[in-house]
Amino acid sequence: MITLIDLPYAPDALEPVISAQTLSFHHGKHLQAYVDNLNKLLPDSLFEGLPVEKIVARSSAGPVYNNAGQILNHNLYFTQFKAPGEGAPAGALAAQIDKQWGSLEAFQAEFEAQGVGLFGSGWVWLSKAEDGSLVITQEAGAGNPVTKGLKPLLTFDVWEHAYYLDYQNRRAAHLHALWSIVDWRVIEERYDR
Ligand code: MN
Repeated sequence: MITLIDLPYAPDALEPVISAQTLSFHHGKHLQAYVDNLNKLLPDSLFEGLPVEKIVARSSAGPVYNNAGQILNHNLYFTQFKAPGEGAPAGALAAQIDKQWGSLEAFQAEFEAQGVGLFGSGWVWLSKAEDGSLVITQEAGAGNPVTKGLKPLLTFDVWEHAYYLDYQNRRAAHLHALWSIVDWRVIEERYDR
C-alpha cells in the first residue's frame, strides 16, 4: 500500500510562488490520483510490497512505471521547498556547483533553460553521479534519473498542472521564481547522503 506524503509546510507557505490553490490541486488531486492508480495496479503484480523507488527502477514502461514515477518525482519535489526567502547551497554541493558551472547563477540559468526547453510535460533534474559530479537532465512524462543510475537531488515540475493556475503559460517566469522557495539544506543533505 502506497500512501500520500504529508506536506512539510502549511498549504499557503509557498505563496506567492506556489499558491495554496495550486498546492491543493497538485498534492491533493494530482498526486493523490497517482497514489490511488498505483494502489489499484499493485495487487498480485510483481511489484506488490516494494517501495516506490524499487518499483520505478524495476518497471520500465506502462501504467505501473508511469504512476510510480510520478509518485517518486512528486515526493522529491514537494519535500524540497520552504517559505520564500534568500537561499544558497553550502558545503560540498556548493563547491561542486562552483567547480562545474563557475557560479550558482550560471548553474541556475542552465537549469532553467533546460526546463523551459523541455517539450511538453516532464521534469528537469539535478542529480549526482557515482563520482560525485552533478548532471542536469530533462525527463519526459514520469521520468526519473534513478533509471539512469543517477541520484536525484533537485527537480522542477514542468507539467502545466504545476503552475498553470498561478502563471498560465509563463513557464519560464515560474521556473525562475522557484529558486526563492528551494530549501538548499534538503538538497545538500541528498547530495551528502
Ligand atoms: Mn506534478
